[in-house]
Amino acid sequence: TIGADLERAISRFGDREALVDVAGGRRWTYAELGRAVDEVALGLLAKGVRKGDRVGIWAPNCPEWVLVQYATARIGAIMVNINPAYRVHELAYVLKQAGMSVLVSAVAHKSSDYRRMIEQVRAESRALRDVIYIDDPTWDGLLAAGATVPYERLAACAKELSPHDPVNIQYTSGTTGFPKGATLSHHNILNNGFWVGETVGYTEHDRVCLPVPFYHCFGMVMGNLGATSHGACIVIPAPAFDAAATLRAVEQERCTSLYGVPTMFIAELDHPDFATFDLSSLRTGIMAGSPCPEEVMRRVVSEMHMAEVSICYGMTETSPVSTQTRRDDDLAHRTGTVGRVLPHIEVKVVDPATGATVPRGEPGELCTRGYSVMLGYWEEPERTDEAIDAERWMHTGDLAVMNDDGYLRIVGRIKDMIIRGGENVYPREIEEFLYTHPKIADVQVVGVPDAKYGEEIAACVILRDPAAGLTRDELARFCRSRLAHYKVPRYVHVLDAFPMTVSGKVRKIELRERLAARLA
Ligand code: ATP
Ligand code: MG
Repeated sequence: TIGADLERAISRFGDREALVDVAGGRRWTYAELGRAVDEVALGLLAKGVRKGDRVGIWAPNCPEWVLVQYATARIGAIMVNINPAYRVHELAYVLKQAGMSVLVSAVAHKSSDYRRMIEQVRAESRALRDVIYIDDPTWDGLLAAGATVPYERLAACAKELSPHDPVNIQYTSGTTGFPKGATLSHHNILNNGFWVGETVGYTEHDRVCLPVPFYHCFGMVMGNLGATSHGACIVIPAPAFDAAATLRAVEQERCTSLYGVPTMFIAELDHPDFATFDLSSLRTGIMAGSPCPEEVMRRVVSEMHMAEVSICYGMTETSPVSTQTRRDDDLAHRTGTVGRVLPHIEVKVVDPATGATVPRGEPGELCTRGYSVMLGYWEEPERTDEAIDAERWMHTGDLAVMNDDGYLRIVGRIKDMIIRGGENVYPREIEEFLYTHPKIADVQVVGVPDAKYGEEIAACVILRDPAAGLTRDELARFCRSRLAHYKVPRYVHVLDAFPMTVSGKVRKIELRERLAARLA
């Protein structure tokens, strides 16, 4: 269990640093972290939280987030991560869907007035008994209540726990539709965090800078569990992503590892003060979540000193990581592929129509199996059965190609694949080509309904110079010599920005709906 693993880390690395809150100027050794986690765990027991109860957490990154993560795990409660960008109706949905009895939140952060939104939905969320704000007196109230609970209760909780008990409900990013609550066990996420950390070679000497949201598995599993399962230190640069704060934290805390989605690394590299930061302590890091452009990877390696930076592929439902590049993989493999499968996980690439494994080098649906596959979607058995088959293979919905050496390339999502006049078109391929157009800063290709071909191809573009404009004929001329005729976009749609998820992904479904509505 996660609690037992933390105790092991405390006994081995007790006086080494475990957690640093750079913005708040606070730090904890492993021994201190253990005591702080116990205090919160006892507080939750005092509030009546029992094994299997759902405790929500809705807050930006902060040390208390980490305490709640380990405290809930310690007493067998199920922590529910709530997206910090949610608004009232989404909050109401997850409170009810997961049946949360206690919610830990922050009063407010930036434009999110969490307390006001919670007060709005509190009356209709009948299961919700208690709301604790980490930045107001209710937090001290939690700790004070815990002080009255005998310490032995924690040992009793540990005895009742199995590694296969659920510890966490993590909602998926909602890139392709409504988020689903992946229910994950201690066994699922602790092992995954451990193997991700093992693959980048963490030891108690590593200091891991985490500007990625904790609410997402990237932060709480690959980050927090990846670090503590190896005795490394978690460094929180700021409550939410901030390029300068991240670079400053790396310098001040002499971090050896830095996480981010590609857009975060781009923001750091392009920051006007980038050159003034001393990043020489960095050795490694993890980039994940979406494809990484080669140029960005090259700069991360040369200008940020992250010679061993690793690419991960995964999904919330699989704890999350299934494949990862290794420390000695060359740059070509680290930009062109998502690495090879991790130990104790299986992968196969199948024809989505027949389920038969396709030959190496051909695209198909990626399926994964092993300890990392979630228990299921929370109270959604039909959707669970659609995703996990009778042999426990998780059907990822992603299209991948495996080469002869076992390296995988992600070529897109099945849902994003465009079928135009019976021809399969992969948006990724067209996007990569359109990126090379001098006027285009960013591009997303989607399918829109078409009477004649079933679907037509639309390019949504962000221009380098919005005043310059870009016509459909101009783009068609550019494509003609290099793309098969059926891949040439029929529509060009110029935008200022793409709709994004908090985990940094473009919501193609929204682009598709907007375009379809315009064309209808
Ligand atoms: P939803 O399932 O709600 O539509 P989501 O799939 O984006 O949202 P996550 O679980 O956060 O939610 O993301 C997993 C997905 O992210 C994968 O299925 C894959 O499409 C994409 N992904 C993850 N890592 C990579 C990577 N390294 N390269 C390309 N795509 C990636
Ligand atoms: Mg998904």
